[in-house]
Amino acid sequence: QEDVFKKLVAHCKEYGFVFQSSEIYDGLGAVYDYGQLGVELKNNIKKYWYDAMVKLNENVVGLDSAIFMHPTTWKASGHVDAFNDPLIDNKDSKKRYRADVLIEDLIQKIEGKIEKEVTKAKKRFGESFDEAQFKSTNPRVLANQEKINTIHTRFAKALNDNDLEDLKQIIIDYDVVCPISGTKNWTDVRQFNLMFATEMGSTADGANTIYLRPETAQGIFVNFLNVQKTGRMKIPFGIAQIGKAFRNEIVARQFIFRMREFEQMEMQFFVRPGEEMKWFEYWKDFRMKWHKSLGMGDEKYRYHDHEKLAHYANAATDIEYRMPFGFKEVEGIHSRTDFDLSQHQEHSGKKLQYFDPELNKNYVPYVVETSIGVDRMFLSIMAGAYTEDEVEDAKGRKETRVMLKLPAALAPVKMAVLPLLKKDGLPEKAREIVNTLKFDYNLQYDEKDSIGKRYRRQDAIGTPFCITVDHQTLEDHTVTIRYRDTMEQERVAIADLEKILEEKVSM
Ligand code: ATP
Repeated sequence: QEDVFKKLVAHCKEYGFVFQSSEIYDGLGAVYDYGQLGVELKNNIKKYWYDAMVKLNENVVGLDSAIFMHPTTWKASGHVDAFNDPLIDNKDSKKRYRADVLIEDLIQKIEGKIEKEVTKAKKRFGESFDEAQFKSTNPRVLANQEKINTIHTRFAKALNDNDLEDLKQIIIDYDVVCPISGTKNWTDVRQFNLMFATEMGSTADGANTIYLRPETAQGIFVNFLNVQKTGRMKIPFGIAQIGKAFRNEIVARQFIFRMREFEQMEMQFFVRPGEEMKWFEYWKDFRMKWHKSLGMGDEKYRYHDHEKLAHYANAATDIEYRMPFGFKEVEGIHSRTDFDLSQHQEHSGKKLQYFDPELNKNYVPYVVETSIGVDRMFLSIMAGAYTEDEVEDAKGRKETRVMLKLPAALAPVKMAVLPLLKKDGLPEKAREIVNTLKFDYNLQYDEKDSIGKRYRRQDAIGTPFCITVDHQTLEDHTVTIRYRDTMEQERVAIADLEKILEEKVSM
């Protein structure tokens, strides 16, 4: 599975989906650029989300708030005091780690031991092997499971109590070694704020420390009344926005899964106090359906309900996707009570309340939010789409075909138009087709190399359809359409192409 991930990262670069930022200077940690195809896929993801949230829901409207916000915003939201990661350094390698990630790795290692036992037993017992029964009776498995449970409980408590000494003690007690130096020579654990700070104004006249926003949500909260009043919105209603967020993440790995500059798609839904659980369930279901509607396979998604809640939340769940490195969060759905609006009300001294005509009273609304990372979504789609199958080339030799089985609605290129030969008026005819469709769809014209090679190139970037223009086209105005997934071909009229695209590609 790790192998698949490596191939995926290489594929993203080779075909112009994702590049390392400032690559000619050897890159910048956990920052990436989207190339010519990446930007198309990313824009399609954003449109697919925005349309589903804003266009399909009459009571959800959009917003585009600034990245810079008044510094008090982050005091009120709790980010200045509590948006921290616990860090620990290894004294020999001088490498810095997130304490919680070291502990997660430790748990994964023990889980690996359990898996090994299971695989061994499977081999030994063959057909008759009952995995559940084995796991509940084998003493070595039970001991390791017990160990995991103890670490989990102790770790959750230490994090919750902000007990930095015990976080360090867990690392020592379970003999965690530095992956680089291999030693256990650890410093104390300390808290590290994840916000990037900069200065606004010149220092001479007293510059203000301001932060790059670590989430887009706060721009929505501070605009709650502006939008409610000017849009004459009635509760329940939502505000949605897509925008960049910045976090000084310490663990920079797993490609675009965890970045320092990334993009979020967030929606805050304002509801009557007491009705938040109903709406939490509603959005939980709505969002899962949105993911599954892409057709990547329902079994790749699951909920992960949080037992341990942040102080402001009364319910929280993640939607996880099965990445090549395990099930991982792509989206969070949180019931945030009236925490944020109340905090901003207190810090700004401005009332952030809604007059409910039906109840005939004022209140601070409760909020249910859905928050998804564009880049993580991108990664999950690419991981799910990356496929290798065996096909025969023109001479009947077997070869591996690399294909991106992207949902047609998200594919960067919707259709490739290919003249069979570079002569006899075929290129001109092909260009004519491109010209009639290019305003509505992103198309590619390609005349270089053999037709087989051109098909492979389109498969590798996930183009759902290839159109081939041949001599018959000039006679009867038909072309061959080739389907990426099945490689089947059929003849269709040029006049029908637009209908086909509209049916299969439109969002
Ligand atoms: P994690 O536990 O993975 O750090 P989180 O719980 O802090 O994530 P939220 O604050 O709930 O994440 O952010 C909402 C969404 O934003 C996440 O589900 C994820 O898709 C995305 N996201 C958060 N941090 C990053 C990051 N550093 N890089 C890319 N996407 C991110």
